[in-house]
Amino acid sequence: MTISTTPMAPSRPAVLPFTPEIEQATAPIWSRVKGVIPALEWPVHAPYIDAINRLKAERNAVVLAHNYQTPEIFHGVADLTGDSLALARMAVDTEADVIVLCGVHFMAETAKLLNPAKTVLIPDPLAGCSLASSITGADVRLLRERYPGVPVVSYVNTSADVKAETDVCCTSGNAVEVVESLGVPRVIFLPDEYLGKFVAAQTDVELILWKGHCEVHERFTAADIRGFRTGHDDLVVLAHPECPPDVLAEADYVGSTAGMINHVGASGARRVVMITECSMSDNVAVAHPEVDFVRPCNLCPHMKRITLPKILHSLETLEHRVEVPDEMAARARRSVERMLAIGRGASAGVREARAKVAS
Ligand code: SF4
Repeated sequence: MTISTTPMAPSRPAVLPFTPEIEQATAPIWSRVKGVIPALEWPVHAPYIDAINRLKAERNAVVLAHNYQTPEIFHGVADLTGDSLALARMAVDTEADVIVLCGVHFMAETAKLLNPAKTVLIPDPLAGCSLASSITGADVRLLRERYPGVPVVSYVNTSADVKAETDVCCTSGNAVEVVESLGVPRVIFLPDEYLGKFVAAQTDVELILWKGHCEVHERFTAADIRGFRTGHDDLVVLAHPECPPDVLAEADYVGSTAGMINHVGASGARRVVMITECSMSDNVAVAHPEVDFVRPCNLCPHMKRITLPKILHSLETLEHRVEVPDEMAARARRSVERMLAIGRGASAGVREARAKVAS
């Protein structure tokens, strides 16, 4: 991926003034988020939210935000929100000239692959991902040499370089469906080892796994889950399949980011812990004030590189543009488009955890 940059030197005060006009303009947003953003912080966030929302209209820009973004971004300036797959689909459908991707670089690359003619910006070019950086295109070519004829399924949390060497991409929401769609007995599945084990427990297809891990989800332990349950018999534990297998075995539900969000509403649970990135609970809590969220806080340092001042700077300067070389982009796009054609199965990745993972 190429990212063009200019020096980060916005010519404005470090903190924008919180005027009565801005207070009034942002009041509807504040009324939605006041349960998850401290009142002391709002005068700092609101002027940026107001400036970004004005500039978006001038630029015909759309802001896409991943569920792991902070509430002031997710609820304050995002036009479209979702998990990796949802963001990829939204990137295809948008009419905007400029896409500002508030997430990590593989997400911005995916948006660019699907919209080669549009300007795709990432507010901080250093927003990476431990999973994506665990493997390169050269590694995939070596795997193909070692396992000739075995197709490669890659999680979307990979670089365009890896996607270009991939037969079809998947997300945690459709991985089982994608693996089974190939109609073969053996598949190379990468880079997330834990997601691979979760998928392997749900299919007869043999998976050859890579040892990539998400640095956020791998930090949770089974002892953490048992600790959360102590004194809370009604606690419903929702876990993301990037967590280690012993953590998933302790969960009541295992599913993708979107699956976890849907399960909060569908389950009728009154006390929930989401075993995933920290900001998810804040963002879901806005829509579910009736639910008591236990909030362990494992932050993704890469997601948290995106801030309101950087988003504003991006819109003002149209930096940092994400570019993918044409030949690589054409091959990478094919693997993403194959995934989008398969679609998201109603039940894929949305499995009750105990029976499947423990078996
Ligand atoms: S939460 Fe994990 S998988 Fe997601 S961007 Fe951060 S490091 Fe990557």
